Amino acid sequence: MSVVENIHLEPRAKRQKIEPNEPSYSSKRCGHWFVRYGVCTTCNSSVDKDQGQAFNYLLDGLQLSHEAVAVTKHLTTLVSCSNEKKLHLVLDLDHTLLHTTRLPCLTEAEKYLIEEAGSKRRDDLYKWQPQGENPMVFLTKLRPFVKDFLEEANKMFTMYVYTKGNRDYAKFIMKLTDPKKIYFGERVITRDESPYMKTLDLVLAHERGVLIVDDTRDVWPDHKSNLVEISKYNYFRMSKSKHSKPYSEEKTDESETEGGLANVLKLLKEVHCGFFRVGEEKELEFKDVRLLLQEIEFNHADKEPFSSVETL
Ligand SMILES: [Mg+2]
Ligand SMILES: [Zn+2]
Repeated sequence: MSVVENIHLEPRAKRQKIEPNEPSYSSKRCGHWFVRYGVCTTCNSSVDKDQGQAFNYLLDGLQLSHEAVAVTKHLTTLVSCSNEKKLHLVLDLDHTLLHTTRLPCLTEAEKYLIEEAGSKRRDDLYKWQPQGENPMVFLTKLRPFVKDFLEEANKMFTMYVYTKGNRDYAKFIMKLTDPKKIYFGERVITRDESPYMKTLDLVLAHERGVLIVDDTRDVWPDHKSNLVEISKYNYFRMSKSKHSKPYSEEKTDESETEGGLANVLKLLKEVHCGFFRVGEEKELEFKDVRLLLQEIEFNHADKEPFSSVETL
């Protein structure tokens, strides 16, 4: 007999005696807001996957109902804006914060990097191998300015990572960039939870208060108006490209002060500033980063371009 049937068969009077963790009302009336491993934590009935959205990246087996997601998003943005003056920021990893390549892909002119990665002279280049049976060795190069960027952005935003890489890859990168989990906490979404397109449905904040920084616009089919498209960071030579030499071969790098992350940080500051420029706190409820991005794009159209900003 299923849990649901059990609840229905219980005599009504008996159900009035409510103990903590016992079903407090009929599963029919329960919205199954919080589900853990397929069971509603309020009424104990089994709940289908399509009745909500999984949030395994926050807590294994966690599912929230669509209503719970909507309310949580709304409240999170409201509270975060009022109390901390923080918005939300979703960051891509590859070609946005760093560039990773496989060791066998290095050209002759890049092979000097293997030794450099193992030396103490560089704190932006890492040689590593995933745990398990994968024999592949990788080199990861952090984008110039990334550490300052994270520190500065953290003052204005609650941050997420959203990558097409898998969980193990994300874990390794987080060890490099956020070893104490100060910036991202558990807010790291990977291919394991989101194998196809990227979506803000998985981000627990209202879309009016979320900005995305990603070098690939096509992976965000439904949220382009939240997107700040950053220039692609390519440090290593990309496949068989015969064009200009990459930074690795030139033994140079993107500028710290004029590079992609520095430029995007300026834009993020501008949006953050615009969002919180209000007469009364009540106005914050009507602010929307999507409109601000559009305005900034418009204002910059005749000046030095923030060409990376998406239009609505
Ligand atoms: Mg990318
Ligand atoms: Zn329930």
